[in-house]
Order: sequence, then C-alpha cells, then structure tokens
Amino acid sequence: MANKILVFMGPPGSGKGTQAKRLGAFLNFQHISSGDLVRRLLAGDTVDPEEKKEVEKSRQGILVADWLIYKLVFKEIEKKLLSGRGVILDGVIRNLEQAKEFFKFFTEKKWLEEVKIVWIALSDAEAVERLIKRRVCVKCNEIAAYSLETKDLSVCPKCGGELIIRPDDNVATLKKRLEIQGTAAQQPILEFFRNSGVPVVEVDGRSAIEKVLEDIKQVI
Ligand SMILES: [Zn+2]
Repeated sequence: MANKILVFMGPPGSGKGTQAKRLGAFLNFQHISSGDLVRRLLAGDTVDPEEKKEVEKSRQGILVADWLIYKLVFKEIEKKLLSGRGVILDGVIRNLEQAKEFFKFFTEKKWLEEVKIVWIALSDAEAVERLIKRRVCVKCNEIAAYSLETKDLSVCPKCGGELIIRPDDNVATLKKRLEIQGTAAQQPILEFFRNSGVPVVEVDGRSAIEKVLEDIKQVI
C-alpha cells in the first residue's frame, strides 16, 4: 500500500506533472497542483474579502500569496484524506519555508507517517535539452513535453491545435529558471525532509514516461 500523501518534486522538465496525473489515475489519488487550485479560485466566486484581494492581485499578474496557497492546498488534502483517499502534491512545495509549513501541517494532523517525497531526478543539462524542445498548443495551452512518445506529434492531442515552441523557452531564460527551481535549488528541501525523518525516494527521470511511472510504482 502506497503512502497516502505523495509529494512529487523534481526540476522543470522532469515530467513530474505528467507522472503525478498518471499515478493519480492509477491509485485513484487526487492530483493537487497549486496552479489548478488558484485557477479554480479565479474562476469561481469567493466570499472571503482577503481571498478576493489576492485574486485581484493575481489577475494583475502578481503571484498569489503563500498563505492562500497553504489554505487552498491544506483544505484539499484534508478533504481527501478524511474521505479515505490519498493525494499527490505536484509542484506545490517550492522552497524551504513552504516545506516547513507543510511539515507543520502534516505533524499537527498526525499524518506525518503517510508522507513520502518522490524526487524525479534530471540533470540541469538534460532539463534544458528537454524544455527547449517542448511545444505548446496555440489554442488550449496544453504542453507537449519532449519525450520519445511525443516528439513526433504534429498537432495538440487534446484539441488538434497547432503546436509551437514558446518564444520564452530559450537557453537563457531556461537557465535562469533552473537556478531557481533546478536540482541544486531544491536540495535543501530534500535535506530538510530527510533530516525530519520523512522518506525521500528517487527515480531516474531520463527514462521514457511509461518506465518512469513503473519505477515510481516500485518505490511508493
Ligand atoms: Zn490544444
């Protein structure tokens, strides 16, 4: 039996979003990404005035405050776990401060032993190699990650729209992104969890999508 709270981490380009979705479907676990939660908040109506203020800021392109992310994600985790389901957190914990908040939350709820960190390893060089080749749909923004399975796609698998390379997917911006979200930047988070007794497992993100998924199933 897999732990009920799986935290997926990895550098951009490691395919963690794809893997989180697939594993979620396989285990019937809820896939939770903060981006999706914020989009849902933006689409719906919140009556909370503080939340409304944050939603307005986000519409102007300002990042949503951490406290609101915590509130949204914690609520979602709690709902699923209390109903007996597990969750997969995808790209939710991005820095040490957030890691500590989540650790505190898991400890308070007495769910710590349900937590497992899944690190999908990919070197920065390989990440750049992949990200520079990924394409995005001009119609629905679906991202066609670069992989053996998807490299020959000519149109968007979701809507049939045209797939293009994003203009900001160039080596300079990608390198900057990896400085903030790459392997080196995320090591302190992994260290923190290891030192706190939370199991951290690693899979090789270089393999084909199906193989990575199988590897993940082995270690959870
Ligand atoms: Zn599309």
